[in-house]
Amino acid sequence: MSSAADAQDFAAERARLVAEVEAMYAETSRETGMSAMSAAVRASLGKVERHRFVPKAQQSMAYRNQPLPIGGGQTISQPYIVALSTDLLQPKPEHVVLEVGTGSGYQAAVLAEVVKQVYSIELLEDLGRTAAARLAEVGYGNVEVRIGDGYAGWPEKGPFDGIIVTAAAPRIPSALTAQLKPGGRMVIPVGGEGWVQHLKVVTKRADGGYDERDVIPVRFVPLVPKSGG
Ligand code: SAH
Repeated sequence: MSSAADAQDFAAERARLVAEVEAMYAETSRETGMSAMSAAVRASLGKVERHRFVPKAQQSMAYRNQPLPIGGGQTISQPYIVALSTDLLQPKPEHVVLEVGTGSGYQAAVLAEVVKQVYSIELLEDLGRTAAARLAEVGYGNVEVRIGDGYAGWPEKGPFDGIIVTAAAPRIPSALTAQLKPGGRMVIPVGGEGWVQHLKVVTKRADGGYDERDVIPVRFVPLVPKSGG
């Protein structure tokens, strides 16, 4: 098959995926408080070529609404979760967002379509380098990837309008809440390995404290506590 035909097939598959994710928003709207995907996130999901962010062997499954292995024992998250997490941040075109757990780079790409600048931290060097190269190749000049421990955040680039954590933490890391702007939001799965995890939205208050809300039960790979968590 020619690559033009491939591209057409993938576009059709992406449109189907967007419809599936949309249906899942409707099914979960009572829990999440989100009745529909935002127009911005829908456009992003319909545009970002997920097949470019998965290993060759997984490409035929790239547009299924499910997580897939990306090597190093890690996974690219389910598209529904990527979309929902992005919407829960209430992203705006002028926002600067931090991601912890670059993985494949897919979530960073989806974010890069809807905000001004994305900073993303990955602990595993191989994954981080591959993702950074891929994001540059696809043309996301507004994503910067750093290899490091996400528990510490990226204070030099903060404070952030939003922080998205894509691996589960046993509790909300205080270094990350410290790097949120007042009114900023963090989306983070919280719960120990083997425990029920909850996707939480943490909103920073003007007085420096924060409010948190459990949105939906989820299952993420654990955030590795490199520096003791
Ligand atoms: N957002 C990714 C999904 C990543 S899975 C995507 O769209 O593909 C979670 C990622 O978090 C893994 O790549 C894992 O290596 C990384 N990770 C785990 N602990 C971390 C830490 N302490 N700091 C930074 N990244 C971490």
